[in-house]
Amino acid sequence: MLLGGCSCAWGIMRALAGGSQGLGVCPHSCCRFSTSLVGRILACPLVSGPLRLNLWTMRVPVTPQKVGKLHRLVGRYAARSLRRFPWRKRTSPYRVLIAELMLQRTGAAQVTPVFERFVNRFPGLVAAAQAKPTALAKVLFPLGRTDRHRVFRKAFQYIAANHNGRVPNRLDQLLKVPAVGPYTARAVLCFAYRQRVGLLDPNVYRLLQRVFGIVSAKKRFHTDAGLWHIVDGIAPRSGVRAFNWALLDIASTLCVVREPHCRRCPLISVCKYGRNRLHGAA
Ligand code: SF4
Repeated sequence: MLLGGCSCAWGIMRALAGGSQGLGVCPHSCCRFSTSLVGRILACPLVSGPLRLNLWTMRVPVTPQKVGKLHRLVGRYAARSLRRFPWRKRTSPYRVLIAELMLQRTGAAQVTPVFERFVNRFPGLVAAAQAKPTALAKVLFPLGRTDRHRVFRKAFQYIAANHNGRVPNRLDQLLKVPAVGPYTARAVLCFAYRQRVGLLDPNVYRLLQRVFGIVSAKKRFHTDAGLWHIVDGIAPRSGVRAFNWALLDIASTLCVVREPHCRRCPLISVCKYGRNRLHGAA
């Protein structure tokens, strides 16, 4: 940690310039978005400007024009084809957190009835935190993983003890909650708190690879701070919830691993992979 707890690029320059007499307090919000030093540095406007420039000059095809077109196409798809789930209808932080914890390695069809039962039985986080393990286990049993109630309980008890039962609205705080990783934390920020963050699950990563040619140098892509930074940059300034919902839907229902449904995909006009595939098949 550097001066004033700020370890983004601004903070480092400030330290090099001689502390509080130097560049002053960091006016940016980059420190909110990442708990890692690398993430904060990448998120800092002093670095992200040149990083973007570098991306353009390296001819990585994440151009503003292509991103703008993606926003329009995904927005149009969102207006008419978003899937309906109970956790998309009412989006309190508690409901979003429950849904995202349930959706970890479990399909939406299996989660839907369990989600309804769970929020009826435990309407608030404090009630869920105080529930007996057997009561939680009984409701969660149809999800098929016997240890799940313990994970849920730990998360609820942590939030009850450390945040007065309110689901945090900061990335660094959410990442400290048991069972909450980068995707779940950002889903809560986006869907419950309407913050402008990008989402990256394996399906969306595959879609972005195909549309933009983005490939992480890291084996575990979700640990790649640079990739998260790019995904945040792709998220639109307005309508970010609908955008992320639609991207998740397109990625999981159309841009599937084998035999993606490119003919029906709304992104075909911006997806080189899809066009090559269709022309190759013609
Ligand atoms: S056109 Fe095909 S490959 Fe491209 S995003 Fe759509 S489904 Fe995926």
